[in-house]
Amino acid sequence: MLRPIQLFPELTDTVNVRYKVIFLNNVFTFAGLASLAMSLIRWNNDPFLGKVDLLFSCIAFILLWILHRYHKMVELIASIALWLCFVQFLTVFFVGNGNATRSGLLLLILAAAFYLKGRVAGYSMLAILLSLVIGNHVLGLFPSDYSNLDLLSLGFYLLAQFFIIHNYESLRETQTSYLKALNSDLEAQVQQRTEQLAAANQALEMEKLNLTRLSSTDHLTGLSNRHHFETRFAEYPPSASRKTADALILIDIDNFKKINDTYGHVLGDKVLKSVASCMQKHSRIFDITVRWGGDELVIYAPRTNLKQACQLAEKIRKHINDLPIEESGPITISAGVAVLQPGDSLSQLLNRADKALYEAKQAGRNSVYAAAPA
Ligand code: GH3
Ligand code: MG
Repeated sequence: MLRPIQLFPELTDTVNVRYKVIFLNNVFTFAGLASLAMSLIRWNNDPFLGKVDLLFSCIAFILLWILHRYHKMVELIASIALWLCFVQFLTVFFVGNGNATRSGLLLLILAAAFYLKGRVAGYSMLAILLSLVIGNHVLGLFPSDYSNLDLLSLGFYLLAQFFIIHNYESLRETQTSYLKALNSDLEAQVQQRTEQLAAANQALEMEKLNLTRLSSTDHLTGLSNRHHFETRFAEYPPSASRKTADALILIDIDNFKKINDTYGHVLGDKVLKSVASCMQKHSRIFDITVRWGGDELVIYAPRTNLKQACQLAEKIRKHINDLPIEESGPITISAGVAVLQPGDSLSQLLNRADKALYEAKQAGRNSVYAAAPA
């Protein structure tokens, strides 16, 4: 099954069209000028042929103009041009006196058919030309001076041209498919590398996220660490113009050293974790829970007044007290609560909470104390 070939399959359609336009430009210019000259020369001897040549010359120049205006119609114009050449050359072939030059013209049409319209058009044109010329010779419809030998040699020329083009096409197709195979191999490699890079990037991104999370989290309790909280507080200080300020609850586990000493550090760690998760569980979604260091923990409660913060601290104290830690028995905590005053720094706020915590410890622990306003 024959299929139309692209002139240069490895080129884009736009480039192929450009090649055809250039080719047709040359053909029309040449054909227009040659027909005009032929017309002038012939006019005296044979006015009819002179007029035919003049007509072909005009058609060639009109096609040249159309080609300039409508590049996109190049396929249609190429077909028209081919058939015009076919008609013109056959006219010359059959009407004129036979000689070898005219046979050569048929070869030109055939070459142009292959070049412009591809293999199917080339083979069809070959078949039509051979049957017309041989048919005419056998039937003698038009006067022709060609001898049997001329016709035979013309047939061989045409067949030779067919084989040359056929071989050339096969060679080019082999090369093209080799190039295509190389290209798709390269594309597969690029695709593979791209996927590997994407996977590596994703792994890096996850590692980065993991590192960011680790650097902002306390490993033992999973709460935010002090550094992270201080950085966030410095980056986004609470606005002083808010109606309700923020509150800070400073929590310290009572007699934690004793728990460590009596039951060991492993249980101490377990207690710390239980206290932290209880704090997290019973604080509100917008509260920030922080391990400040050692057995000191913080709840930063945005938009919370002193009374609400004390209630929250009291609720958490009770829940911690109820924690079921069999080895050590009930755990108690003390808490100091302070509210952010306009112009307060974090350390000033913490200082006040710390003083309240100290008072709670002094008063016998297991209690919540509110700081006096600054
Ligand atoms: P107070 O009621 O006055 O707070 O008495 P306390 O024994 O709790 O005294 P303090 O708060 O000063 O003790 C903190 C102890 O916490 C000291 C240290 O051994 C212990 N600690 C600090 N970090 C850790 C930790 O990560 N794991 C464990 N198991 N213990 C820790
Ligand atoms: Mg303590």
